[in-house]
Amino acid sequence: MTENNTTYHKGFKFRLYPTEEQATQINRTIGCCRYSYNVALRKQKEKDLLWWITEEMVQNGQLLSNEWKGPRYNANASMKENTAFKKITSWLKEVDSTAIQNALQHLGEAYNAYYKKEKGKPKFKSKKNEMQSYTSKCNYNKGVGTIRIVEENYITLPKVGKVRFAKSREVTGRIIGATVRRTPSGKYFVSVLAEVGKEPTQISMFQTGVDVGLKAFVTLSDGTVIHNPKFFYRVEEKMKKEQRILSRRVIGSRNWWKQKKKVARTHEKMANAREDFLQKITTMLVHENQVISMEDIRVKNLLKNGNLAKAISDVSWAEFRRILTYKCEWYGKELVVVGSNYASSQLCSQCGFKNKKTKNLAIREWQCPSCQTKHDRDQNAAKNILAEGLRILSKSE
Ligand SMILES: [Zn+2]
Repeated sequence: MTENNTTYHKGFKFRLYPTEEQATQINRTIGCCRYSYNVALRKQKEKDLLWWITEEMVQNGQLLSNEWKGPRYNANASMKENTAFKKITSWLKEVDSTAIQNALQHLGEAYNAYYKKEKGKPKFKSKKNEMQSYTSKCNYNKGVGTIRIVEENYITLPKVGKVRFAKSREVTGRIIGATVRRTPSGKYFVSVLAEVGKEPTQISMFQTGVDVGLKAFVTLSDGTVIHNPKFFYRVEEKMKKEQRILSRRVIGSRNWWKQKKKVARTHEKMANAREDFLQKITTMLVHENQVISMEDIRVKNLLKNGNLAKAISDVSWAEFRRILTYKCEWYGKELVVVGSNYASSQLCSQCGFKNKKTKNLAIREWQCPSCQTKHDRDQNAAKNILAEGLRILSKSE
């Protein structure tokens, strides 16, 4: 265990609802960061140019060798230059200076990667980039941070003020910064970065098996059934409709762009709703159980008819497993992934009898011919997944 294990960084992403004035300020900050980044990059490129000029003189025989070692990009020097620059450029003063510093440091990182030959030359930032963002640092004065959550669902951002946000969960730990993003469809999000101490593990005596399916999103070994929110299907219908309208528009026309934005918004809506749903159920599972056993979902090919509901489920399952994995790590819980060749839906969870007749997916309920226990297909599978998970766990200990 290293010392780093005492704290770690955790990101909390929320939707922001800035007023028109605040949105203007956010956009201005994004613009100023891009401008400062590009100015610093241009200056560095001018310095680098001397090498090429010297090189040309060598090629022309005017010099014996190219001894020129151009100064490397230095974020600190760049920041000092920027401070001097700020004195004469009033509009740069109007935005959060830590955001500009961050942009210049970011350029420093880009140059370092380039010097180490890990990445190509840093490029100018464009207004046309998909994602526009800036990152502010949280400074503390007498314990009060410049970035903080106030009045339940407001967050203060330097030079922007109190911005309303959708608080879907508590921000824990010491806030160290925030990244504000604007999506192509003109929505705003904030990612609050906090330093969190390893939370004391609350040991639970419960354990659960998770069966993922299409009828229900998951069924637990205790019989709990969690369905996909109905909302998903409504958005799915809307998505199809908007796509259809888009396909009828003349590509590149005003209405086409308008419709494209609409489609993007619907996609976002779907992604956000799904993320929210998965966050909630994984939190519930991790808090209630010490051991979570689930089937390897990559190989779960229940349906192959290529409909949208399936595509959504596939994405959800992969995401479900990803979130569950890191949350179990955070809270010191055990996640066991059971191999796919394990016939979870065919075995009787009571006596272990293998009932091949249950291969047919249409059979939702069955009675064990051996011990007469009545089974719900999914719950029985979840029970088997749990038993197999516990077996794997006891073997590895
Ligand atoms: Zn049985």
